[in-house]
Amino acid sequence: MIYMDNAATTKMHPEVVNAMLPYMGNRYGNPSGIYTFSKKIKKDVSEARELLASTIGAGPEEIFFTSGGTESDNWALKMTADERRAGSVITTSIEHHAILKTCDFLEKRHIGVTKIGVDADGKVNVNAIERAIRPDTFLISVMAANNEIGTVQPVARIGRLARGRNILFHTDAVQAYTNIYIDVNAMNVDMLSVSGHKIRGPKGVGFLYIRKGCLKTPFINGGAQEMGMRAGTENVAGIIGLAKAAQIAMINRDKRIRRERQMRDYMIKRVMTEIKDVRLNGDASDRLPNNMSFSFSRVDGATLILMLDQQGICASAGSACSSSQTQPSHVLKAIGLSDALAYGTVRFTINEELQWNEIDYVVECIKRNVAELRRLSVNEN
Ligand SMILES: *Cc1c(COP(=O)(O)O)cnc(C)c1O
Repeated sequence: MIYMDNAATTKMHPEVVNAMLPYMGNRYGNPSGIYTFSKKIKKDVSEARELLASTIGAGPEEIFFTSGGTESDNWALKMTADERRAGSVITTSIEHHAILKTCDFLEKRHIGVTKIGVDADGKVNVNAIERAIRPDTFLISVMAANNEIGTVQPVARIGRLARGRNILFHTDAVQAYTNIYIDVNAMNVDMLSVSGHKIRGPKGVGFLYIRKGCLKTPFINGGAQEMGMRAGTENVAGIIGLAKAAQIAMINRDKRIRRERQMRDYMIKRVMTEIKDVRLNGDASDRLPNNMSFSFSRVDGATLILMLDQQGICASAGSACSSSQTQPSHVLKAIGLSDALAYGTVRFTINEELQWNEIDYVVECIKRNVAELRRLSVNEN
């Protein structure tokens, strides 16, 4: 199997699995216990928190463990709104549903939501954000990098704008984390969402960075875990795995990114030159090192994905839940694609384990399948 859907989820790094195993076995103590057995576990969780904090230039008391990216996004938006009670939020039209659906929730509770559009490359215009600011704007939430088309946003510029206007700035960094440089202080980020399973860590764990003093109200009420902000016994094995995955990703970062970029650019070049009527979505240079999103004219992407599956290749449409039966992806519509081209879109997201000969095989399969589908296609689109 050739797995090219790393934006959907990743295979845990073997060292991550090894780091987690003891916590699913003998190291089962509740970190809240006051005997030595538990205090050791508490210390391990603290060290994980410190390690993760250091990867984004934060303090450990600013890292709050969650069940993943979705929860982190929900927490950031809902609790900021809850503490303000009124006002409005600025976000973009290409956010993950964890943000967009949470914004729908806020709108029903009379929080104003302005969604800024993006250009054809999926970039948000900082001046457009500035123009959208209203006297009651209390939060700007813009993702650091897009999960469908890989476009990286000007996070530092948005942060500077938000800070200058005394508006909180949240970024969904689930795809960007360990792939682009992040320093929450240099970039004026107040809240930042991360997920374990997108960085070769475990599913069901992530964290929300909250700048000291930005939020005071607990998100989940109960025990005193997570500095009283999110109650519930810690997902210890998950936390250990998340920290290990981040550590490995950061240590190998430059080498890994260089390899992924080379492979990505090689595959993009072959697809773009050897297949006619294909469009590369997302920004050509400001993009995640592992992302490729192609739109093929006169091709049904869902069928192409099924053909690739038969050939042992895992790829996906723009997002985890698109198919011809449903609406075209909101991201692909936002960058101006016709419905037909949006339905002809396939995303390949690689990791450093990919081999060069596998890329050649994938390109040959895409070529053959696209030719076949176009031969069969009756409608011109
Ligand atoms: C995957 C993803 C999420 C959701 O993260 P989970 O840990 O799966 O809940 C949120 N935002 C982006 C950009 C993602 O890619």
